[in-house]
Amino acid sequence: MANALKVRQPVDFSLHLPGEWKKNMAYKDRCWIGKTLYSNAKGSLASPLKNWWYPPPPPAPSSTSTPCPDDYFLRRLFLWMPKRMWNVDLKCPTCTDPLRSLQSKGLYTRVRMVLDVKDFYYLAGEYHFCNCCKGTFIAWDARLLQQLSNDIRALFPVVLTYKYACDVSVVSLLRARSLGNSSTAIKKKSTSCTVRNGCENALHISLNVSVISQPMRSSI
Ligand SMILES: [Zn+2]
Repeated sequence: MANALKVRQPVDFSLHLPGEWKKNMAYKDRCWIGKTLYSNAKGSLASPLKNWWYPPPPPAPSSTSTPCPDDYFLRRLFLWMPKRMWNVDLKCPTCTDPLRSLQSKGLYTRVRMVLDVKDFYYLAGEYHFCNCCKGTFIAWDARLLQQLSNDIRALFPVVLTYKYACDVSVVSLLRARSLGNSSTAIKKKSTSCTVRNGCENALHISLNVSVISQPMRSSI
């Protein structure tokens, strides 16, 4: 009887991710990323790992359930783990004589938000530590990036400052500086693309809501 009454609770995949990620990652994003990035609840990362992780597409129109707006605004994830993905022997930037190999410490506890031309995406990376000096280093640390071969380094798409991060495609728009191509103009264009992207998502929600309301309208 007790077993018959026991209701199976849905798995909260967001709990698979580092707790600090919730500071700047939406709950629905943590759910799909927690589900796809890990192969099991014990914390083993999926294999093989890849750089880009894409959210599931927006739900199909349904006449029985109301669309959840959050499902239409999910963000991509860029995962940067060169040591693990390409077996790169990264060296400690501070222990130079002799050089010391860095050890993996798993995923870094925070993610960064990266500005792209028409939206934002998340940047997550591997954390490393040095057994000798006890220093810790994130995979996108400039001193680690410069150790990579050109072909691997070229795969890292983000330009980072202490507070901000943007995709190289945004920076490339600024390279061809000419009359009328100021940083302000680029900002306006990027804002316009972001707003348009948001409007398209809102229209998609509206369209799917109309599927539910249609029988009601026809019965009047
Ligand atoms: Zn060291």
